[in-house]
Amino acid sequence: MSEKLHLTSFSKDELTDFVKNLGEPKYRAAQIFKGLHERRLRSFEEMTDLPKNLREKLNETATASTLKVESRYVSTDGTRRFLMKTRDNFPVETVFIPTENRDTICFSSQSGCPLKCDFCLTAKLGLLRNLTAGEIVEQIIIVLNDVYGIGAETPHGTNLVGMGAGEPFLNFENLIKALEIMSEEEGLFIVPNRVTVSTAGIVPKIYELAKLEKRPHLAISLSAPNNQLRDKLMPINKRWNIEELLEAAKEFEKSLRKNERFTFEYVLLGGVNDTDEQARQLANLLNRYELNRVKINLIPHNSAEPLEYHPSSWEQIERFKDILETKGISAFVRRPRGRDIYAACGQLAAKK
Ligand code: SAH
Repeated sequence: MSEKLHLTSFSKDELTDFVKNLGEPKYRAAQIFKGLHERRLRSFEEMTDLPKNLREKLNETATASTLKVESRYVSTDGTRRFLMKTRDNFPVETVFIPTENRDTICFSSQSGCPLKCDFCLTAKLGLLRNLTAGEIVEQIIIVLNDVYGIGAETPHGTNLVGMGAGEPFLNFENLIKALEIMSEEEGLFIVPNRVTVSTAGIVPKIYELAKLEKRPHLAISLSAPNNQLRDKLMPINKRWNIEELLEAAKEFEKSLRKNERFTFEYVLLGGVNDTDEQARQLANLLNRYELNRVKINLIPHNSAEPLEYHPSSWEQIERFKDILETKGISAFVRRPRGRDIYAACGQLAAKK
């Protein structure tokens, strides 16, 4: 038996073609799209605005949902981690992070990750497979339904960050398609301006992103101020080194809209990349950008067995930040969220 079509992966146009091929009128496509993305229904049975025979016909060849929540963990700080499984049994992790003003959902783009960043737990899984556009969208649907109820309004609005498991730019096409589906007004209506995608430095895709009309914000994981250290911490640096990466970011800077910034992320590893001298080196690297166009997020390392790193002291984190700020660079320390449930950056490794 061939696998059922996952309609959550379909753009509006694709859904229209699909419905036409079933011999149904076009407006059925709009109803189904709404049912999946605006009402966040997970089965055709629940789409009671469709005639029963159509629902049965859909069920024969298609499905509305594929991901199953296997476990769900709630942190003392309110963060929730969802461990899901694809229909072929690969792990997918998604994190809900409540904040005062707005909620953030951190989604995964791949099951596992092929990059071997030395400080990241997800790396230990290796790449299991790319997620489909529908699997990316479904993560958001599942989390919103869990937090607010099926199809219910999201009172704070939702920001998305592509900072879960995987390297989003190694699954670029599906990522962009998922973002397009999620931006539809008759759907989740999460516009690209609310989305940030983080890359470890897949340089050609940074150029590609810069050219896109509708695109998310960009974050680049740097985490070392020189090639010698970055080669060791993030082996992708051997493919595209710091100069090539910063050059691509320079091109991206030119494509920024009014008041838009892009971000560098820097994981702070105690005694490894967090010295005063390294902060100055980093500031020098970044002085090629307009100060009002770039910012840097400092991420205290989240430790976990078997990672051999430990976080910098809070005192050193403050010093590092001060040195950057003295050079005029906006620096922010990312407060760790959900560490107790293995939901923080670099801790997603399908742990139970
Ligand atoms: N592959 C993409 C998306 C992952 S984003 C990327 O590398 O950008 C997750 C962010 O968390 C990245 O900036 C990554 O460097 C950082 N990170 C990874 N492991 C971490 C850890 N153990 N503690 C803190 N941050 C970590």
